[in-house]
Amino acid sequence: MSDSLFSKIIRREIPADIVFEDDRLIAFRDIHPQAPVHVLFVPKQPHATLNDVPDGEAELLGRLLLAAAAYAKREGFAESGYRLLMNCNHDGGQTVFHLHLHLLAGRALDSHFG
Ligand code: 5GP
Repeated sequence: MSDSLFSKIIRREIPADIVFEDDRLIAFRDIHPQAPVHVLFVPKQPHATLNDVPDGEAELLGRLLLAAAAYAKREGFAESGYRLLMNCNHDGGQTVFHLHLHLLAGRALDSHFG
């Protein structure tokens, strides 16, 4: 895929409020938060959408989910709760074509499915 906005954040070419990083993932606060906590968990390997992740990368998707859960535990809102969300392509509302998982928390979220 072509170079993405999130690849530029990973390379520190544009600033972001980074809250977690390891060898395969980075997480930073969303620039337009939809909840008091809104963090994006992003694989460093730039798959455009979930459709582009090969079977061999199943572990990466697991790490993405577990990194978000670990963050929720560390930050103290795992028990009160949070929402994980991944948009795919136009109808899913995806705007940045570098796979990412939204973590939303900090208030009771309505059960809205578009
Ligand atoms: P999507 O709509 O693709 O699922 O989510 C993309 C998210 O990236 C949006 O929630 C949007 O606010 C966020 N975003 C877009 N540009 C930037 C940026 O430059 N920095 C950060 N931190 N977030 C961004």
